[in-house]
Amino acid sequence: MPMNENKPDRAAKFRKLQEAYLAKLPGQFDQMSLQWRLSKKDKDDGRAFSELQKVVHNLAGSAGTFGYPAVSDKARILEVLVSSFVNLGQSAKRDRDTIDELIVDIGEQIQQSPQEAPCAITVSPIGSGSSSRSHGKLVYVVEDTALLAQEIRAQLERYGYEVEVYGGTTQAVSALDQKIPAAMLIDLNLPEGELAGSSFINSYKLGMLKETPLIFMSSRDDWEARLSVARAGSAAYLSKPIDFDELLDRLDLLIGGQDDDPYRVLLVDDEEVLAEHYALILAEAGMETKIVSSLTELLPTISSFHPDLILMDIFMPECSGLEAAKVIRQKNELLSIPIVFLSTDANLKNQREVLELGGDAFLKKPITEEYLLSSVATRVSRFRKLRSQMQQDALTGLYNHATLKIRLESELGRALRQNAPLAFAMLDIDNFKKVNDQYGHPAGDAVIKSISRLLKQRLRKSDIVGRYGGEEFAVIFPETTEQEAKRILDNLRQQFSEIIHGHGVTIFHCTFSGGVAAAPSIKEISALIDTADKALYKAKNGGKNRICIYGEDP
Ligand code: GH3
Ligand code: MG
Ligand code: MG
Repeated sequence: MPMNENKPDRAAKFRKLQEAYLAKLPGQFDQMSLQWRLSKKDKDDGRAFSELQKVVHNLAGSAGTFGYPAVSDKARILEVLVSSFVNLGQSAKRDRDTIDELIVDIGEQIQQSPQEAPCAITVSPIGSGSSSRSHGKLVYVVEDTALLAQEIRAQLERYGYEVEVYGGTTQAVSALDQKIPAAMLIDLNLPEGELAGSSFINSYKLGMLKETPLIFMSSRDDWEARLSVARAGSAAYLSKPIDFDELLDRLDLLIGGQDDDPYRVLLVDDEEVLAEHYALILAEAGMETKIVSSLTELLPTISSFHPDLILMDIFMPECSGLEAAKVIRQKNELLSIPIVFLSTDANLKNQREVLELGGDAFLKKPITEEYLLSSVATRVSRFRKLRSQMQQDALTGLYNHATLKIRLESELGRALRQNAPLAFAMLDIDNFKKVNDQYGHPAGDAVIKSISRLLKQRLRKSDIVGRYGGEEFAVIFPETTEQEAKRILDNLRQQFSEIIHGHGVTIFHCTFSGGVAAAPSIKEISALIDTADKALYKAKNGGKNRICIYGEDP
């Protein structure tokens, strides 16, 4: 997303928010003066005083953002003074005079025009959904041995990579001038010379490949070769003969595993204009945002929006942000969601309580754009990493058994509610015991990884894949009939059977079988699993390397 194109739009949006804010400002000031006058009267029962506190707090938190930093500063002093009064009647005359003066000062400040909008920084996209590499799956292979180049192409294409092969550095340079790929795989020894692969990268236009992972291949294993590759900025060094499993692992890690789901941030603030301002900054960095200004909407919005982080104002009229956080933490599934509190100085005494509640941070208003963005982005990224570690199977990175069942339950529920079809499949590698026996357990693991990779890369984004057990996998296909699921799986089965496993002299092929069942004809999660399992048994009995639907002829 090129940010510069969005800039005028962003400035215009900010000006609109600022206008809305400025239109309210004189009214807020009058309200503050009025409540202060009422507070000083003998008959006030404390209502005016608490109204005063609210207005002062809002001013302190928002005026700076919209061009009146001096008003924020004064309001902050006011807030501290006002909240230090236990009983207005017994307060010192000197303090009351100071308040009078501060209010007059603020009144004068807001007569002036606001300072230049502080939205001059360029916000670059952060976190997911914001990869600067536009050619997501394109890999350049610079390899002069045609046979090897072909084999690499065939292997990578099977997993959804787009491959272009160049036989030497000259062709590679002209290709690079056209398009920068997502990754490059380079032979060290090319027709141009012994270490031509690394020296060409060193001489290629400085900085052009800074973002592009480079993987070098060589049959040399000496210090000179390795050093030249390190100097060329390599991300990996593979020895020939190439272990394709290792190559694919590297590629997955470097470019394949990018999580492109935008960060989702929920903003909870009664000051809507300010919340919109924060939302604008986050949205510009590529995040999705939602604002909750009435707390009765909080829990329903969390369930429908699935935020990765909650940005919460501390001081709100309905209840405090800390109380709202307690309500959120009552829900088991929300125990670990990051909550970041926003408030003005005067509330800093609450910091310990914030930490005790598992609040992740306490940001002081007004907050700079950079600080807001980095505070949010680092916490979301950490949260997502932790969450995926808990949900993933360690060997394959697929959902683990428990998570898959949770997903199946919610997808099945949704399908039945929406009267949409949903297919569920169980897959099992054929004769896997033999693989372990003949080629060893590590080779077996590599096969498990290769089928996982194929499922991850080749299924649609909406399909949900898990490792159900040892060499068993399960797939949830939302909005898909069992016939459609069978077709998709048959295709994958064909592709899997063509994959070459092992490397060097010991190469072999594997197959898998699958059973499919579907809702709405089956409405219970246990029946769905059971039926898919029976269909799988049928596929095994019928000779393996096939996909069956229960109750249907193979
Ligand atoms: P079938 O075609 O009927 O499925 O035969 P099979 O040999 O694949 O089936 P079986 O269920 O009898 O054997 C599965 C084997 O998978 C047994 C187990 O040792 C092996 N296995 C399970 N998990 C792993 C793993 O994580 N890594 C490796 N290498 N082997 C595993
Ligand atoms: Mg098996
Ligand atoms: Mg098995």
